[in-house]
Amino acid sequence: IPKHADLQPYNFAVAGHDGTLCDPEGELFIKPCVQQEIDFYEKAFKDHPAFADLMPEYLGTLVLNDASDVHDIEEQIPAAVEHMTQHFKEEAVRMAKQHAADVAAAEAAKEADALAASKDNVSWKPNKSRKIATDKSVVLENAAYGFKRPNILDAKLGQRLWADDAPMEKRKRFDEITKVTTNGSHGFRIAGMRVYKGGENPDEWDQEGYKVYNKDHGRLVVNKDNVVDEIRKFIFNPRANIDEDLGRAVAEAFVNDLKRVEQVLASSETRMYSASLLFTFEGDGDALRAAIENQTPTTPPKEATEKEPVPLASRVDSGIVMDGEGEIILPQGNGTTINGVIEGDVKVLQLAGEAESDDEEFASLPKIYSLKLIDFAHATWVPGQGPDENSLFGVRSLIKIFEELAK
Ligand code: ADP
Ligand code: MN
Repeated sequence: IPKHADLQPYNFAVAGHDGTLCDPEGELFIKPCVQQEIDFYEKAFKDHPAFADLMPEYLGTLVLNDASDVHDIEEQIPAAVEHMTQHFKEEAVRMAKQHAADVAAAEAAKEADALAASKDNVSWKPNKSRKIATDKSVVLENAAYGFKRPNILDAKLGQRLWADDAPMEKRKRFDEITKVTTNGSHGFRIAGMRVYKGGENPDEWDQEGYKVYNKDHGRLVVNKDNVVDEIRKFIFNPRANIDEDLGRAVAEAFVNDLKRVEQVLASSETRMYSASLLFTFEGDGDALRAAIENQTPTTPPKEATEKEPVPLASRVDSGIVMDGEGEIILPQGNGTTINGVIEGDVKVLQLAGEAESDDEEFASLPKIYSLKLIDFAHATWVPGQGPDENSLFGVRSLIKIFEELAK
């Protein structure tokens, strides 16, 4: 039986609902969700590999609704997660058991309270069909894993934020939000943000040293005129040794990944309402520089001369590389295989043909940056209906903004 203390609330969510969990090592992110989100992940990982590449690694689902789960939780981990490492699997099972035990304990306590109350009220009847709201969870790769001080920005996509099944009241409420935020002007808004040693005033930092921007920031402070500068605060931060050069390199890395997102969305047929792009990068400038240097292969690349460009196949989480002087020179796609050429005295790269490490999961740690598409509670596949222009508008605005920041 796992120890209660092992299970942890996930502390790095910058937006969204409560109740997210992670394991002690922080590799997994477990989020209570609706069936629609599970269906969307399943379909993506089954039939749309390029799209799935934009998402956090999907490891499966857990159903955690009553004490019986403690005994048969293992059967609930679908075959679809065959590829997940034994470590992940054991960890998920362990957490699931703990969670189920916690839920059972909470339910028992509620029953006891209700029973106590019923003694004063003969008309009370136990409600057998009562269900906790969080009986399904999706198990994902934790996008913040592998960072020392993850800076995180959740950009909620869309001018239209409500799905076809939304009631009129919700449509009106969300359209009003669109009207008064950058969802209207740019097709996205900052739903939440956290920046290590961010902002002007250290008094505002939390215990771990982060300036946390909650959902009101993106609704009340950010507008069409200051949005570039607000995102500048996310990327550039002299207090954490992220100077102009380093910040520009990060912005350029995000531009490249955003262009990939644009390209994949433009050739996919989805409708996503209130999905987000989750930007994460190393918020400690010294750790960021170290992480970039850490990509150096143990054996130096064969002579890379200007005359003979070095073919490059990168499958690292960052694609930022440095030359011999430590100058940052070449951001590439995130986590995707890219074939290209690189010229000059290159210090950091993975050469084509270099065998990929067995435990690839950990090969690229510590991490530099990550861009992931998340939150598919209101997302569907719509074969035959063409690309999701509503989400694409936001992606294209973000490309322009990050291009501006990379200048
Ligand atoms: P909700 O439906 O509650 O909005 P989201 O999927 O948007 O759920 O997640 C809420 C927050 O949790 C996000 O803003 C982000 O900070 C965090 N989050 C979501 N998915 C991941 C993930 N795979 N790894 C790390 N953090 C995540
Ligand atoms: Mn969300």
